[in-house]
Amino acid sequence: MKFKNNLYIVVTISVMMIVLSISISLINFMVSLRSTETDLKTRSLPLTVDNIYTEIQKHVIEPNLVASMMAHDTFLKDWLIKDEQNSDKITRYLDTIKNKYGMFVAFLVSEKTQSYYTQNGFLEHLSPTKSDNEWYYKFKTLQEDHEINLDFNNNLDNSLIMFINHKIYDSDYHFVGATGIGLKISYINDMLKRFRQEYNFTVLFVNEEGKIILSERTDAKIKSLYDAPELRNLADQIIIKDSKILEYQKDGVNYLLKTKYIPELDLYLLVEAKLDDFTQNVRRTFYLNLAASLLVTVIITFIIIMMIRGYNEKLEFMARNDALTGLMNRHAFDDSFNDFLLLSQRNNDPLSLIFFDIDNFKTINDTLGHQAGDNVLIRISELLKTRLRRTDIIGRWGGEEFIIGLINTDYKNAEVIAETLRKAIEEDSRLIHLAPFPVTASFGVATVRTGDTIETILTRADSAMYRAKELGKNRIETELGT
Ligand code: GH3
Ligand code: MG
Ligand code: MG
Repeated sequence: MKFKNNLYIVVTISVMMIVLSISISLINFMVSLRSTETDLKTRSLPLTVDNIYTEIQKHVIEPNLVASMMAHDTFLKDWLIKDEQNSDKITRYLDTIKNKYGMFVAFLVSEKTQSYYTQNGFLEHLSPTKSDNEWYYKFKTLQEDHEINLDFNNNLDNSLIMFINHKIYDSDYHFVGATGIGLKISYINDMLKRFRQEYNFTVLFVNEEGKIILSERTDAKIKSLYDAPELRNLADQIIIKDSKILEYQKDGVNYLLKTKYIPELDLYLLVEAKLDDFTQNVRRTFYLNLAASLLVTVIITFIIIMMIRGYNEKLEFMARNDALTGLMNRHAFDDSFNDFLLLSQRNNDPLSLIFFDIDNFKTINDTLGHQAGDNVLIRISELLKTRLRRTDIIGRWGGEEFIIGLINTDYKNAEVIAETLRKAIEEDSRLIHLAPFPVTASFGVATVRTGDTIETILTRADSAMYRAKELGKNRIETELGT
């Protein structure tokens, strides 16, 4: 019952500690998770979008001014109007622009002759049927007088080029051609790569129709927002001029998406972050916390079990032993002696009892003090422990009365043992040192008879002891025969 109660306490405390540590770790985890998410939404993603935007602006503004200046250049207009004579002149002009501003290409298209010139001279005749030339026919029909076009031109290079196209008008505001510059945009690819490697961000540019115009080359799996189901559903929220933060799931994984319209390119910038990449550390910390707190719980539970066990043992010892001498108390002696009784009756073995009382103990207390009396009791119990066999049981019956159960011992042997003890007490040098007069005891010895109980045998030993007192103390008396 006692052990069950203790077990219940240990289990309750352990469960409470486990629940506590799991809850604390969970709360920490949730808070860290939320702050990581908030940081991503309010800081990292917007900052990245701004960085990319600034970088693009930096690269677009100057070339746009150059292209605009070319479109308004009177020399260029005059040359077109005057039937494109002496193409060397225009080649030199384009070459100067190209070199001066560090462009990849500077070009001019004549509406009248459909000729395409670059800094290297005449390149080709444009035709609406050539797919490479589509841009020109589209551009012509645009309302705006300029555009930024990301395009390939296999005649020039096989990498993506950003063209800034401007329309040229004559003095009557008739469209006479197009001019502008082209820039290699490998810097954009480098930038996208850097954002992926350093921050785990995927960056895309899409146009009004949701078509992916620019992405890091390794990431070009989808061609349009509409190719990815999770993005298709969000397309009408992505393709708007307002910057947004969107959340979605792809294959059971959570993603955050920051969008921004870039007017200079007429494109939408998309920065995607896989939430797991950013919460990995938080999760690792959570598992570590959990493991550490469970370990602490196990250790504390173990310590509690050990403490309770020690405490129990102490309680048990206190319940069965005398506090002063450590000998069995009356209750414990009763138990053990009853076992002896049963055993001796079953095996027909002799069993004896010695009962003794210290002589004139009151005088010891009165003359030397209670502490000296205690010391005498302790010393006598030590003598008993060393003089008796391991199988014998020794108890302190009351104040200065001791009781000894001797298994497998008849009254003769018991008498001999009692005599040994009497002598040992009388002659013990420590006891002589403790009191100015000899410390002695009077002994009563009884042996078990058929039908005996502890009470009956004890009564006989007790009366024998009293007889020893009456006959002058410091002696042994055995029970009277019946
Ligand atoms: P007798 O020879 O007839 O046995 O006389 P006595 O003085 O030994 O017997 P009595 O019963 O008159 O006195 C016993 C005393 O033992 C009284 C009590 O205060 C003292 N006593 C009982 N328990 C303890 C104890 O634990 N420590 C000490 N110091 N004294 C105790
Ligand atoms: Mg006494
Ligand atoms: Mg007494």
